[in-house]
Amino acid sequence: MLSVSEAQSIVLANARTLSAVQLPVTHALLGQVLAEDVVSDVDMPPFDKSLMDGFAVRSADLPEGKATLSVIEEITAGQMPTRSLAQGQATRIMTGAPLPRGADAVVMIERTQFLANSQIQVEDKPARAGQNIMARGREIRRGETVLTSGTELRPQDLGILATVGRTTVRIVPRPRVAILSTGDEIVDSPEQPGPGRIRNGNGAMLQAQVARPGGIPDYLGIARDRVESLRPLVEKGLQADMLVLSGGVSAGKLDLVPGVLQDLGVQAHFHKVELKPGKPVLFGAKEKTLVFGLPGNPVSALVCFELFVRPAIRRLAGHTKVQPSLVDAVLVENFVYNTDRPTYYPAWLEWEGKDYRVRPVPWFGSPDLRALTQANAFIVIAAGQHELPAGRIVTVMKTEDETI
Ligand code: AMP
Ligand code: MG
Repeated sequence: MLSVSEAQSIVLANARTLSAVQLPVTHALLGQVLAEDVVSDVDMPPFDKSLMDGFAVRSADLPEGKATLSVIEEITAGQMPTRSLAQGQATRIMTGAPLPRGADAVVMIERTQFLANSQIQVEDKPARAGQNIMARGREIRRGETVLTSGTELRPQDLGILATVGRTTVRIVPRPRVAILSTGDEIVDSPEQPGPGRIRNGNGAMLQAQVARPGGIPDYLGIARDRVESLRPLVEKGLQADMLVLSGGVSAGKLDLVPGVLQDLGVQAHFHKVELKPGKPVLFGAKEKTLVFGLPGNPVSALVCFELFVRPAIRRLAGHTKVQPSLVDAVLVENFVYNTDRPTYYPAWLEWEGKDYRVRPVPWFGSPDLRALTQANAFIVIAAGQHELPAGRIVTVMKTEDETI
């Protein structure tokens, strides 16, 4: 049977970054990957500007930092100065306003006192040319590349796109991911499920898992365990960049997903991985559409998504770091566990100043989604019999980058 890392390699070997498109620049591009180098059409700042509220001065007038100066004008941000400074003169200036000609320094308002007759008394350290000024083009020169292709757009990058006047940009689109739940027993209903029925936890969970790394979920509903029900919905899902099914991939009598996929021309790349929970996971492709058949048990579905689907979404979306994050963590309690397959065990991970600490959470196996509401990570445990004492360093897969 394939190992997890072999299976991940197969997925990534089949996952190609989507072709770039031209899109309007809005906050909705947050997290998407730039597909061009972006060049500035302006100097930033476009003029020598004051970094302080105070007085624009000639540093030559303040060799000792003390002088009485005449104030000839007041400039607020957005205005242009009309008068050049001569010896012994100053201009009142606000943060962000352009410096008048003749000035080469700004003295903070706090270092001055108003006198009568539009005069000020400066009491400061010796003035230095350039103090409290940002020179034109210091931040960005016109024609300079400010963002490079491959950048994952963060708020500051969106700010720079606006600064350099971009209204549209070439970007890797978000992958569209169709989601299909399967099973005669599954209901999408707030009503109490009838006898033998359960509600569709996976549909909601998988949509959120798609959205988190930047995919666009397209929920197709529930297919029943009949070819006539499954086939048209799978056909619809094959129009997307990716189709993620849950249920129907194991060895049960009504596990019809592999057969239907095959009939519809999906080439299976693997079916079963040496893994717990999630062994029956299936991966295939039809033309550009990647297809994942996740086991129906919710914890299996979530783990398989993190291990195989999320990296594929990240790759299609153009990211370079796509694999789940693994960290070393100190086990905080004794943990005894026997397993015949490499296991992803739900756990709570915390950063404790200088290292990660991890605690397994109570867990009753692959149907027990409730356990994951108390977990934010998985301890990765090799096959075998383990008596892990508190203090042992273990490998942990993080599933919530932002919160830990
Ligand atoms: P299957 O993989 O279809 O054999 O399903 C395995 C187990 O997962 C069964 O107990 C199913 O009832 C359960 N299951 C399947 N689909 C879902 C779903 N969408 N939400 C919650 N549980 C599910
Ligand atoms: Mg089923």
